[in-house]
Amino acid sequence: MQESYDVVVVGAGPGGSSTARSAAEHGAEVLLLEKRSEIGAPKRCGEGLSVRALAELGIEAHPRWCVNGIWGAKIVAPGGKSLEVRYPEQVGWVIERKMFDKHLALLAARAGAEVRARCEVVGVLKQGSRVTGVVVESGGERFEVEAKVVVAADGVESKVARWAGINSLHRLEDVDSAYQYEMVVELEDSDMLELYFGNSIAPRGYVWVFPKGEDVANVGIGIGGNVSQGTAKAYLDRWIANSRYRGGSVIEVNAGAVPVGAPLEKLVGDGIMLVGDAAHQVNAIHGGGVFEATFAGRIAGRVAAEAVRQGDASERFLSRYAEEWRSLRGEALARIYRLRRAVEKLSDDDLNYLAEVLEPEDVVAFANGERLGKLAKILMRKPHLILAAKELM
Ligand SMILES: Cc1cc2nc3c(=O)[nH]c(=O)nc-3n(C[C@H](O)[C@H](O)[C@H](O)COP(=O)(O)OP(=O)(O)OC[C@H]3O[C@@H](n4cnc5c(N)ncnc54)[C@H](O)[C@@H]3O)c2cc1C
Repeated sequence: MQESYDVVVVGAGPGGSSTARSAAEHGAEVLLLEKRSEIGAPKRCGEGLSVRALAELGIEAHPRWCVNGIWGAKIVAPGGKSLEVRYPEQVGWVIERKMFDKHLALLAARAGAEVRARCEVVGVLKQGSRVTGVVVESGGERFEVEAKVVVAADGVESKVARWAGINSLHRLEDVDSAYQYEMVVELEDSDMLELYFGNSIAPRGYVWVFPKGEDVANVGIGIGGNVSQGTAKAYLDRWIANSRYRGGSVIEVNAGAVPVGAPLEKLVGDGIMLVGDAAHQVNAIHGGGVFEATFAGRIAGRVAAEAVRQGDASERFLSRYAEEWRSLRGEALARIYRLRRAVEKLSDDDLNYLAEVLEPEDVVAFANGERLGKLAKILMRKPHLILAAKELM
């Protein structure tokens, strides 16, 4: 490892690897640091990713991590009514995150970035308010690495941004608590996602069953920590005990936090950029962040390399990333956050009512921040839902 680089990226999740790859492709000398011994493991993910997302990211599906094709979804309301949508073509994948994250790191390395696992960043170097590098701990040693640009891609628990002076703390009501078992189970349809809603099942969230093959699935839950009566594990165990998956073998347990707030306002400072979960760049309605982190990383890496080329890593220059990202993804994510605010006002009766009047395709569109005007109109039909509808206007 050298003493100085153009760009140092902290965290080799999808956001960090994508940033490192993009910065290296645009000519920067890049170091990508990951604190874990194995990139991607243990996973903290339901591992759902759409075909559209991969295409938009320009990443070719690879059989090593694209483990199961998905053709639609079954969405179950609290009262049991099921909305099923099956598309004429494959629309998604359940991936193997351990392999996917490694694959993205490999692409970064192939583009010229230096990738180092088991290197934890424990502080940042600063001159005044400008970030000038990082402090690294690895194998019992501590050393400093200088950088023209540091990228905080260190996930939901990001510390790098805070060390840099950017308040990236999540509000309690904007974090979901998630728990998941990878299970051997008997599946009805191994090419369909299953989603279960209800305030007693998963307050402000949902239970998911994402099949990874004929008889294996990620069975997980996300709940609003501040609106629940117990832990995510307790809710999930209760749901499984009453489901057809009762008694399935557990081959992996995953737990984690999902940021479901609005994207952070401040994404850059002098010499510092924030990407992915660290920047709260997540779909607040379904909690998906792999696409968002990878997409943002591509822009961040290019702008970081441009900043290095022009000798200007000021907040002003790096804001090009924030502006471009906001116009391409930020506005959509802000809309989706408003949808989350509306949905959390709905009782089980309201959810059952929506299951009666909505088409399954509507629900999929809403989750992507589309057709929200239609949802607002439907909510307006019920006087007690006018407040929820207003969130969407
Ligand atoms: C239970 C659960 C289920 C989910 N399901 C889905 C899903 O199905 N689909 C989807 O799209 N999204 C899902 N998500 C969200 C998704 O996992 C995240 O949004 C995504 O991983 C964000 O990528 P990232 O690169 O920003 O952060 P991360 O993937 O969290 O990567 C951050 C990396 O930084 C490293 N790091 C942290 N601190 C340091 C440090 N100081 N020094 C060096 N390295 C450091 C970490 O070890 C980690 O590898 C789920 C999340 C959870 C918790």
